[in-house]
Amino acid sequence: MSMIKNDKLLSEMARARMIRLVELAKIRVEKTGDTDLIARRYINIAKSIKSHYEIKEPSLNRMLCKKCGSMLMPGLNARVRVSSHNGYMAIVCGKCGAEKHSFYK
Ligand SMILES: [Zn+2]
Repeated sequence: MSMIKNDKLLSEMARARMIRLVELAKIRVEKTGDTDLIARRYINIAKSIKSHYEIKEPSLNRMLCKKCGSMLMPGLNARVRVSSHNGYMAIVCGKCGAEKHSFYK
């Protein structure tokens, strides 16, 4: 087996592990209604796998509050505000009130 093939397999496994950890964090947040220590632990491991294997996964950062690190789950601990004339969407963190903006136009 070539090195390249091994590397690819390894990064695919790392990616699957990272996605699984994000899932576990989500389940934890759903269960407790808060991004508690255990959820944060899952997120931190997922983040370190992400950076170690240089995995391109923008959705991980998108779902975390920049200010307090909560996992943002609209309907549970976050609100979504849509500004149709400006073409942006804001996710408001239910814990610290920080807003995350993204343009959809
Ligand atoms: Zn926050």
